[in-house]
Amino acid sequence: KVVVNRIAAGEIIQKPANALKELIENSLDAKATQIQVTVKSGGLKLLQIQDNGTGIRREDLPIVCERFTTSKLTKFEDLSNIGTFGFRGEALASISHVAHLSIQTKTANESCGYKASYEDGMMKGTPKASAGNQGTIITVEDLFYNMPQRRQCLKSPAEEMQKICDVISKYAVHNSSVAFTLKKYGEPPILRTTGRRTRDCNIADIYGTQIGRSLLPVELEDDVHKFKFTALVTNVDYSEKRGIMLLFINHRLVDSSALKAAVDSVYSTYLPKGMHPFTYVSLEITPTHVDVNVHPTKHEVHFLYEDEIIDKIKRRIELKLLGSNT
Ligand code: ADP
Ligand code: MG
Repeated sequence: KVVVNRIAAGEIIQKPANALKELIENSLDAKATQIQVTVKSGGLKLLQIQDNGTGIRREDLPIVCERFTTSKLTKFEDLSNIGTFGFRGEALASISHVAHLSIQTKTANESCGYKASYEDGMMKGTPKASAGNQGTIITVEDLFYNMPQRRQCLKSPAEEMQKICDVISKYAVHNSSVAFTLKKYGEPPILRTTGRRTRDCNIADIYGTQIGRSLLPVELEDDVHKFKFTALVTNVDYSEKRGIMLLFINHRLVDSSALKAAVDSVYSTYLPKGMHPFTYVSLEITPTHVDVNVHPTKHEVHFLYEDEIIDKIKRRIELKLLGSNT
């Protein structure tokens, strides 16, 4: 049973950046306004995330790493959202099956904090009282220590670090009111946002001032297909090799090859050949319209009225780029 769970967990957590994405989303769900990430060896030796969110109550500590345990599905209707992005209540459980996991946490109502360690979905012993401020520190060590084959499939620590940096950069842009810090253990920060600047400023800081200066806002609210779309696009070259698209659907970082292709097709008309744009896109749709049958390892999503919604978005971006050229 342990081995089966481990294999399933290894399907969900394939690299340090996958684990980090889940942990960041948990911190954001806990209403954190400060998120600090510390990494050793590309996240393989250590991946630690500290937030100032709500914290976890002592009585919840024994169950947070059990599969499908979540504090986020309270009403029956919410069940239709299960698996929206693959893994409701599975993130911490999965991590505990493939790494050494410990949680230090304190809520606003408790006078002291608690620390607990986990293995294979279960808490080891009982929580120990600990000092600390309100919030949660999740420490993930020796990722895939029990899956040598998976470890061999990973890229070098430098490349895994790059992916971690990429994930944090994107969340830092989308959540401009949250202060993010990324550092290697014992070193000064590699990436830092203050939580007090605009999204445009964060884009300029992280992706370059040239891109920051040329951002065009695109917005669209649609009652027919019930969606809200906000974007910042630019026709300045992001990189010689490739473009970049930051795509959030209902505030989760996802991929949609259909949306990507639509945006690319707009640009192919307006950009000189070989130029690659920067685009930030946030789409909010009715949660129940997001397809629940996606494979958990893929962040690719589909949603109801996809063709219609994408077509509307495409035309709106087209209009914006056209307007900016005249
Ligand atoms: P889910 O996010 O789908 O609920 P997870 O496995 O990611 O499932 O997390 C399990 C539970 O642990 C969450 O529902 C939440 O109650 C708690 N939790 C995890 N991380 C944090 C955090 N940083 N702050 C507060 N609570 C957390
Ligand atoms: Mg989660």
